[in-house]
Amino acid sequence: MAIDAVLPWHTDAWTQVMNQQRNQRLAHAYLISGLPGSGRYLFARALAATLLCTELASDEANSTACGHCRQCLLFDTGHHPDVLDITPEEGKKSIKIDQIRTISNLVNQTSNQTGAIKVIIIQPAEALGTAAANALLKNLEEPPGRTLFLLICEPGAQMLPTIRSRCQPLPLSPATSEQGLAWLSQQSAAAQDELAAALTLASGAPLRALSLLEAGIPAWRGIVQEQLAELADGLMTPLQLAKYCNTQPPAYAIELMQALTLQQVREALQSQKSRRAKRFLQLGRELVVISRQLSSGANPNTLMALEYVFSTWQTISGDKDVVQQGRELQFTGSAG
Ligand SMILES: [Zn+2]
Repeated sequence: MAIDAVLPWHTDAWTQVMNQQRNQRLAHAYLISGLPGSGRYLFARALAATLLCTELASDEANSTACGHCRQCLLFDTGHHPDVLDITPEEGKKSIKIDQIRTISNLVNQTSNQTGAIKVIIIQPAEALGTAAANALLKNLEEPPGRTLFLLICEPGAQMLPTIRSRCQPLPLSPATSEQGLAWLSQQSAAAQDELAAALTLASGAPLRALSLLEAGIPAWRGIVQEQLAELADGLMTPLQLAKYCNTQPPAYAIELMQALTLQQVREALQSQKSRRAKRFLQLGRELVVISRQLSSGANPNTLMALEYVFSTWQTISGDKDVVQQGRELQFTGSAG
């Protein structure tokens, strides 16, 4: 996605920050809150790019990075020397104190352009352990030079009060169903029904919905699909399939099941099996809950969760649904 893209549901927050920038009242740290998959990281990236751009399109509050100056091109490579992206390392749940210590390297080195701002993006801020948070606190208390900290978290996230109090809150509005659907239909060729179902399964987060629609994981997906067919025929037990899937990273299996559940919702809708569609949609919602528990580090028992998912799947698959003519389900509401 272009670095200058500001998603339609973020324009208010964007205007607010850009007005502060124009009035030279930019905070040195923002706590950006939004749902994962709602584009909150894109917002932070677009903000960083815009502040570094040397040829801002106009003086208006809705202006964004030009996309072609030297700074923008550098930014586009993903390795702009004045930007530091801090996120848990692969396979890790928390941000390490060593990662926070790299901030001083960034702020102490000479800027890529004279007097330019340096931007540190930390996401998710919930992943800051106590030691890392305390190390960060030192930077937040005495912001070094022209530095901007962008901490990204979920709405209502538990944060150290000392961190929270040093950041200006910047809540991002969630997308309305209309905004989400309009955006999704620009990104995907899928039918409106499918887009709406994906959006529901993604708790209304459009970027998450898109990744569900595009969910690849091809080879593995094929194997699991075959096994699901065996499960439906009673040739395999939910526990056996759960054990097989549990050999993969848990988020993988849950994500795959979200995509496959979505597919079932879609097929049930197309063949007007509304009861079946409803039940798969309910399973999809439960998968969203499990996935959130996983990403929040709540450490759910994934084997047990997967067994539950597969046994529900088996029950729904075995349930004969009567085609109901003339009845339509509404899938455009936000997930509960
Ligand atoms: Zn530029």
